[in-house]
Amino acid sequence: MTLTIALSKGRIFEETLPLLAAAGIEPAEAPESSRKLIIGTNRPDVQLVIVRASDVPTYVQYGAADLGIAGRDVLIEHGGAGLYQPLDLNIAKCKMMVAVENGFDYDAAVKHGARLKIATKYPQIAREHFAAKGVHVDIIKLYGSMELAPLVGLADAIVDLVSTGSTLKANNLQAVEHIIDISSRLVVNQAALKLKYDTIQPVLDAFAGAVSQ
Ligand code: ATP
Ligand code: MG
Repeated sequence: MTLTIALSKGRIFEETLPLLAAAGIEPAEAPESSRKLIIGTNRPDVQLVIVRASDVPTYVQYGAADLGIAGRDVLIEHGGAGLYQPLDLNIAKCKMMVAVENGFDYDAAVKHGARLKIATKYPQIAREHFAAKGVHVDIIKLYGSMELAPLVGLADAIVDLVSTGSTLKANNLQAVEHIIDISSRLVVNQAALKLKYDTIQPVLDAFAGAVSQ
């Protein structure tokens, strides 16, 4: 039985390589240079499928992949239906934050009960955050370049991932609130775990042993 692992290109793929190595899995090609969406490995019973980061939970949910690696951000937005999430891999770490243009008085806007316009790729996380604070918001869904929204008057604030803060700084924005810490997690299709237990469990154990704290 073939084991299929869903990964996204870029930082998640790079940071997953040492974990795969710990499980004795070496990709036959690098997804950045290859255009292939299905990549073989040194193990004939293991293949990788390369999908958009936000699509990883969907592939695993429907069993098109047995395992996957996805950010906590993506998993919250997806909802996690049908997914077993046994392990925080402690990779692709960053923070979900609220940010505004320099000079915008966020605390005053919140205090005065103004209705805030929030641009984000993460409507679920943003909605929950402001609901918990009792702040009324209009969520504007974007697919990228959130930093632009406050600069051109599309939104008062953004909810976005921040690691170094240099993109915010370069666009005259500043973080004003930390929502949650983000890292990537292993997700497993629940039926596959039962059906392919003998193949999957050793991979889970190897990953768990290789996670750095
Ligand atoms: P795309 O770039 O194709 O629109 P994406 O932005 O969702 O997709 P990546 O930028 O590769 O994909 O991010 C993948 C995951 O890595 C995110 O879901 C998040 O968990 C994490 N991540 C995103 N940005 C950072 C960052 N600056 N530092 C560390 N981890 C990050
Ligand atoms: Mg990106």
